[in-house]
Amino acid sequence: MSVPPRIGFIGLGIMGAPMAARLAKAGYEVCVYNRTRVSTAQFPDMGCEVASTPRALAKMVDTVITMVADVNAMGAVMEGPEGVASAFSGGNSLINMATLPPDYTEALARRCFTAGVRFLDCPVSGSRQAAESGELVILAGASQEDLEKFGPLLRTMAREIVHAGPPPAGSALKLCVNLVLGQLNTALAEAAALAQAQGLDGGLLFEALGHNPALNCGFFRLKKENVLSRRYPAAFPLRHMLKDSRFMLEEAAKRGLELPVTAAVEKLLAKSYNSGYGDEDLTVILRNLTEKLPREDK
Ligand code: NAP
Repeated sequence: MSVPPRIGFIGLGIMGAPMAARLAKAGYEVCVYNRTRVSTAQFPDMGCEVASTPRALAKMVDTVITMVADVNAMGAVMEGPEGVASAFSGGNSLINMATLPPDYTEALARRCFTAGVRFLDCPVSGSRQAAESGELVILAGASQEDLEKFGPLLRTMAREIVHAGPPPAGSALKLCVNLVLGQLNTALAEAAALAQAQGLDGGLLFEALGHNPALNCGFFRLKKENVLSRRYPAAFPLRHMLKDSRFMLEEAAKRGLELPVTAAVEKLLAKSYNSGYGDEDLTVILRNLTEKLPREDK
């Protein structure tokens, strides 16, 4: 019987904290690191060690999982004298689960290959609820062999693993999936704004969508409370959707492809971000759309 890998989990934000907790509760030996120490507070009670730096964490484990915000955050935990890379050696593995651009991911994969480190490009689809219940969809860019090796570990966090190809295919697929999400979010917000402008009760919109099997969408059900209450506690912070929309536009532009609706989505997200709403849920774009309407947006 093979020995389960010792896991180092970096990034205990909205998604990372429940993902790391699931690994610990499933019996894996887990060590955690987070830039802001307070987010590690619940982990010692789950039997997890808390590392003081990414390097200290990497020295204690075989496999590092990263779930940090963006490229800057990834640089901060990977590079420098206290970074993961300074402690990595042949035989270690790195699984990135954050949403990062395909180019960056490809360079990371190459660097790991040169260092003899296995690299799995495993961004996820699904938000906080799915992370808590272990029902994420992993979009994997990895070799078949690596996917088989890490399948049991990944399945602790996921209901499905979609194998997209070698790295950075997982990141490339993730952008396509989030393109749909960004447009669903905009469609819902614009429909709710139009309902309000016409004096309709917002509940009617959800009732009507819910009765049509073609439009009875899980995303709409997940965001119903935000839209009806006009409160936007973050499950998927707007700043991440904005970052992802920019990755989509960059990837498309490199290939001479226009994405006119995604470009409009990016503008709406940027407007909300510039209004100071970056840390709220992506549904907060509704606040900008309705701010000039007579009924007050609470
Ligand atoms: P989050 O709540 O904003 O957490 C971000 C994490 O990154 C925190 O642990 C944060 O540490 C760390 N971080 C940020 N900047 C850093 C830096 N400069 N140095 C070191 N650590 C840094 O994000 P999240 O919602 O969990 O998302 C994480 C990733 O998954 C993102 O790439 C996002 O696009 C993707 N994603 C999110 C969702 C979702 O629904 N939320 C779904 C799928 C994919 P601190 O605690 O110190 O700030």
